[in-house]
Parts: sequence; C-alpha cells; structure tokens
Amino acid sequence: MDVPVSSPAGSLETGDKESRLKITEIFLSLQGESSRVGWPTVFVRLTGCPLRCQYCDSEYAFYGGNWHSTVSVLAEVRKFGVKHVCVTGGEPLAQKACIGFLSELCDAGFSVSLETSGALDISGVDPRVVRVVDIKTPDSGEEQRNRWDNLAGLRPRDEIKFVLCSRADYDWAKQVLTRYGLVERCEVLFSPSHQQLPARDLADWIVADRVPVRLQMQMHKLLWGNVPGR
Ligand code: SF4
Repeated sequence: MDVPVSSPAGSLETGDKESRLKITEIFLSLQGESSRVGWPTVFVRLTGCPLRCQYCDSEYAFYGGNWHSTVSVLAEVRKFGVKHVCVTGGEPLAQKACIGFLSELCDAGFSVSLETSGALDISGVDPRVVRVVDIKTPDSGEEQRNRWDNLAGLRPRDEIKFVLCSRADYDWAKQVLTRYGLVERCEVLFSPSHQQLPARDLADWIVADRVPVRLQMQMHKLLWGNVPGR
C-alpha cells in the first residue's frame, strides 16, 4: 500500500467486494480546516475523484490506492487512539461503501466529519456525521458540477466551504450566500486558494462587507507546507 511512513495502513487486509474501500492513505495529523480546526484527527483519504479543480492539492489521490475492507480500515483508525476522524479524498462519496463506512465509524464512537466536493448526493450520509460540503466557484473550473439540490437538505451541524481564487469568486460567493440563505442554515467557510488569493485580501473584504462567514486558513499548510500525509 502506497502510504506515508507515519501511517500503519500497510497492515490492512483485503476485504469482500460489498464493503471495500480504495484507500490512498491513513494518517494522524491536526485538523487544518473547518470548525474542527486544531483537533488531533485521523484522516482516511479515499482514492479517486470525478472532478478536476484547477487548484487541487490532492491530485496524488486521483489514481492508485489499494482496496481494503471497511472492517480493516476501522481497525487501523482505532490504532491511532484519537476521537476525531475525517474521511476525505479525492471524492469519498464516489465510492459506494463510503456511506456505510461513515456509519460504522459513528457506531464505533468516533466524532466523524466528511469532506466532499458538493458534486454528489449527500442525502444518504449518516446524520451524526459533520458534512463539510464544497461549493465550487467559477474560478475552480468546476462550477458546473455543483449539485445545488444538496443545499435543501443541509443540517445545522453541516458546513459549507468556498475555496476562493479571486475577487470575482468572492463576489460570486456572496451572491450564492444570499440566494440560498446559507448563513442562516449552517456554518459557512471562506478559504483563500493557496498561492492564488492573498489571505489578507480576503480577510479585508470579509471585514469591510461584514460577511458572517468564517475565514479559513488551512492551518496544516501553515505548519508543514503543502505535503501529503500532514
Ligand atoms: S473535488 Fe477536491 S479532490 Fe477533487 S479535484 Fe476538486 S479539490 Fe481535488
């Protein structure tokens, strides 16, 4: 299994076809995004994504990976000994077994979040899971993939994330907030695209406009740079 040295995932075993996940890496780090920022968190990165956002920092998860049973992945997660688990990708929901795996994590007592592109149906995700749902902006190159129906089913514990590449993206995102009444329904995160939009510019715009969103800085990149497995 092609995983960082820090991961014990090399001991995973292959499972049956009905409950398998294709995994790129499993690792322990600090949560760098969302309202859960700063918590020691186990990340389970699933392989594959049907989107191609121009700023993607997880391209190494598009291909490769290895199949493993959800039971064995859960066992690996337990070994790290922390409460918080983030299922990410790629696009985790592109794998059928992901929905069941999320519930298995909740049943096992973990506090679970899911990072998803917003391009796939999120309605089947266990309500105990915090769904962090992207809305793809025009400058992402994948705006046409937004599944707007997802927004009707948002829960108060969910979070919406915009990765913003420009002033034009920012103005577009503000219009989306108003059109869908998003800030009244759940937490909204505005994140500057790494090395494309200065965080200070975005901070100044948010303050000047009194936009009730949370600025998100991707803490893991500030701490360790843009490297896999951190
Ligand atoms: S949805 Fe996420 S993983 Fe997929 S291309 Fe976009 S940024 Fe990369």
